[in-house]
Amino acid sequence: MATVRMENLRKTFDSGRLVAVDDLTLSVDDGEFLTVVGPSGCGKSTTLRMIAGLERPTSGSVIIGDKDVTDQHARKRDVAMVFQNYALYPHKTVMGNMEFGLRMSTDLSKEERRERVRETAEMMDIEGLLEDKPSELSGGQKQRVALGRAIVREPDVFLFDEPLSNLDAKLRTTMRTEIQRLQDELDITAIYVTHDQEEAMTMGDKIAILDDGELQQTGRPTEVYNDPANEFVGGFVGSPSMNVLDAVVDTTETGAVLRGTNADFTYDLGTRASDALEGVEEVRMGVRPEDIRVADDGRGITTTVDVMEPIGSDNYLYLDIGPEFIARVDSGITPSVGGTIDITFDESDVHVFDTRTGESLT
Ligand code: ATP
Repeated sequence: MATVRMENLRKTFDSGRLVAVDDLTLSVDDGEFLTVVGPSGCGKSTTLRMIAGLERPTSGSVIIGDKDVTDQHARKRDVAMVFQNYALYPHKTVMGNMEFGLRMSTDLSKEERRERVRETAEMMDIEGLLEDKPSELSGGQKQRVALGRAIVREPDVFLFDEPLSNLDAKLRTTMRTEIQRLQDELDITAIYVTHDQEEAMTMGDKIAILDDGELQQTGRPTEVYNDPANEFVGGFVGSPSMNVLDAVVDTTETGAVLRGTNADFTYDLGTRASDALEGVEEVRMGVRPEDIRVADDGRGITTTVDVMEPIGSDNYLYLDIGPEFIARVDSGITPSVGGTIDITFDESDVHVFDTRTGESLT
């Protein structure tokens, strides 16, 4: 069983002054694809390197299957890692690169090794490149070879450290699909680090969001999108980012009303969240650009359109309601810039966060 468990993992640098990963507990099931996402410096690579055995945890443990591998050397762990910069041996051919890992980790004969490389190369569509050197390959081909080199070893766990970052946008999408296809076909356990939330959301069975060395939330991509645990996750997942405004809570007989403090609006939440908001005075109200509609019954929030940005399928409307407040509407909706519109959104699409802690209250 290729499960991976991280238990209270902690890693500090600089004699303890820099906490790169703080008390991280997280598990990946057999055959599950976990994406780990967060801003630059949040501790993603350090986490992956601890699982690979390339970095020693300050405390905590890494368990693969039922074995505690925390003190085990990287080479002894049955994991394969794919890096952003491919990390191919420049003087070896593609065949040599792919065969090398097998030579180190198995006792197959040379002919058996070569046969296994050829089978994998076929699956990866790189059989025509086997005699080439890395310098003769394009970025996309190099990454296919790096992937093939990992796959041919049939490891228990695959670790990916931003493997697609050096590729152009189109190739990135192709490779994303390719990795998902391989994962489905081979039923591998994978941990995939990226700073790209869209990549994390589309590829992961499960997504883990880190900030400042700490796990913010883990769950299925839809769970994290629909029910962000805090304002950081709400803002990090989804594009364009969730709009967030400061508000005070007025509790009425029929529930709670949010009233903007740095923006001119009131929003009646009704009975939703009235229990959770009892006694709370100040909150941050979040609403996603794609959950906003233009109201035609005159009952929405009236605001001015500052900028309209067409992106093809939709229009982004930058609204005067607050700083960087964006509505993503259908491309058929083209209000005049400088004019006013009324906007509305469903109560169920309103996220309310604690102003002090950032925690979700709804
Ligand atoms: P990025 O997306 O930019 O690669 P990341 O989320 O992968 O960032 P890490 O590379 O894990 O982040 O780094 C986490 C923190 O630990 C950063 O502040 C980084 O500067 C620090 N750090 C990482 N490795 C070392 C090291 N060997 N020595 C000192 N500090 C380190």
